[in-house]
Amino acid sequence: MPPKTFKCKQCGNCCINLSDAFQTSVSDEEIALWEMEGRYDILEWVNSIPLGEDHYIHDIWISPKTGDDVGRCPWLRKLPKQDKYICRIHDVKPEHCRNYPKSREHAEKTGCRGFE
Ligand code: SF4
Ligand code: SF4
Repeated sequence: MPPKTFKCKQCGNCCINLSDAFQTSVSDEEIALWEMEGRYDILEWVNSIPLGEDHYIHDIWISPKTGDDVGRCPWLRKLPKQDKYICRIHDVKPEHCRNYPKSREHAEKTGCRGFE
C-alpha cells in the first residue's frame, strides 16, 4: 500500500507514462484472477511468453492490433470537462498499480503528484 500521507490527485501521469512508474508484467495469480472473472478484454492486452517448465512472463499492456507495448495504459480515461483521470479496471487492476507509489521518493522520481 502507498504511504498514509499519499493522496492521489487523479492526474493520470503514472498511467500516461507507464514505463516511468510501473512494472511491465503481471503475476500468474493476476492472470488467473482475470480468467476467473472472465476479463478477456483485459487478457487481450497481455502477451504471455513461455520461459520453459510451465513458467511464463506475462507482459502488459501489449496492443492486440499491433503487438507493440503501449506507452499509455489502455484503461485510462479522462473525465469529461475535468483535468482528472480514472482507471476503467479499478476493481481488478494489477497489484503494482494498487501499490503505487511505494514511497515518497518513488513518487517524486516517477512524476507522481500524490504528496504535493
Ligand atoms: S490499469 Fe489502471 S491504474 Fe494501472 S496503469 Fe492502467 S489505468 Fe493506471
Ligand atoms: S501520478 Fe500519482 S497522483 Fe497522479 S494519478 Fe498516478 S498515483 Fe495519482
